[in-house]
Amino acid sequence: MTMKAEHIRNIAMIAHVDHGKTTLVDAMLKQSRIFRKNQPVEERVMDSNDLERERGITILSKNTAVEYEGVKINIVDTPGHADFGGEVERVMNMVDGVLLLVDSVEGPMPQTKFVLRHALEQGHQAIVVVNKIDRPNARPDHVIDRTFDLFVDLGATEEQAEFPVLYTNALTGACGKEPDQLTDSMVPLFEEILNALPAPQVDPKGPLQLQATLMGYDDYKGKIVIGRLNSGSIGKNDHVLRIDREQNHHPLKVSQVFTHEGLNRIEVDRADAGDIVALTGLGDVGIGDTITDPDHPKALPPIKVEEPTLTVT
Ligand code: GDP
Repeated sequence: MTMKAEHIRNIAMIAHVDHGKTTLVDAMLKQSRIFRKNQPVEERVMDSNDLERERGITILSKNTAVEYEGVKINIVDTPGHADFGGEVERVMNMVDGVLLLVDSVEGPMPQTKFVLRHALEQGHQAIVVVNKIDRPNARPDHVIDRTFDLFVDLGATEEQAEFPVLYTNALTGACGKEPDQLTDSMVPLFEEILNALPAPQVDPKGPLQLQATLMGYDDYKGKIVIGRLNSGSIGKNDHVLRIDREQNHHPLKVSQVFTHEGLNRIEVDRADAGDIVALTGLGDVGIGDTITDPDHPKALPPIKVEEPTLTVT
C-alpha cells in the first residue's frame, strides 16, 4: 500500500528493557486490527512465495507498522546500548519523532538517556508514555519530574521539554491523559502521535532520493537496504543510480520493495516519499550510499558509520 507523506508518521521507540515496549506495541497492533476489521482489505502485492516471505528480512522485524485513521505509523526500534551509537543516530535520521516509554515506578533509566540525547539533538519531539501505571507502587508524578529533569539535563529546547504525557497499562491495552482516568483503548496514544509528531518532510514529486540507513542480509537476496524515501517513489524493477561514499556511480535495477504492515514485511509494487522501505537488488551497497534517480542524481551527505563499509572499485 502506498501512502502520501501526510498519511505517515515515522517514529522511534525508546525504552529501557522490561519497561513494556513489546507489550505496548502489541496493544497498538491489537487496537489497529480492531479498527481495520470492518474495512475492506486494501489491494497489495504479496510475495507469491510464502516460504520466502517467512524467511523474510530479519532486520526488519525491528520495525512495526500500525494504522490509525488512515495514517500509517512506522515504529522503528532503537538499540538501547551505547555501542550502537552510530545506528541510533541513523535511526533518528529516518524518523520525525519519538515515543519515550518509562516504567511508572523506575522512571527513565541511564540506558535510555543516550538514545534520547540523539533524538533531542536531531530536534525531535517526544511523547512520554508512563507504562505499568497499574503497578501498586506507581509514582507517575515523580517519574514525570525525573523525565523532565532528564530533558533539561540533555539540553532540550523549551518546546521539547513540554512533552505530552500518556499513561498506559499495556497489558490490558488501556491508556489515558491522566494516570487515574484510563480509557479502555490505545486511542489517546494514537491521537497524540498524529497531533504531536510531524509527518515526514519529503518531496513526493521530486526525483528519487533515499539513503541506505540500515542494512540487512539474506542468503538468497543478498544485501537488504533499509531507508526512508526522502523524495520521489521507488518501485520493483526501477532503474536507479547508487552513489557510494567515494561518489562512484553504479546503475542498478531494484529487485524488490518492501514496506511494513503490522509485524509483517509486505512486498509492494511501489512505495512513496515518506515511507520506510527495504530494497533488494542493490549489489554491494554500503551504509550511507544514496539511491537516486539516474536522470537527476543527487547524493546525500555521508552519515556516521561504525560498521566496516565495503568499497566498490
Ligand atoms: P520490553 O523488554 O520493554 O519489551 O518489555 P515487555 O513488553 O516484555 O514487558 C516486560 C514485563 O512487563 C512483562 O512481564 C510484561 O507482561 C510486563 N508489563 C508490560 N506492560 C505492563 C503494564 O502496563 N502493567 C504491568 N503490570 N505489567 C506490564
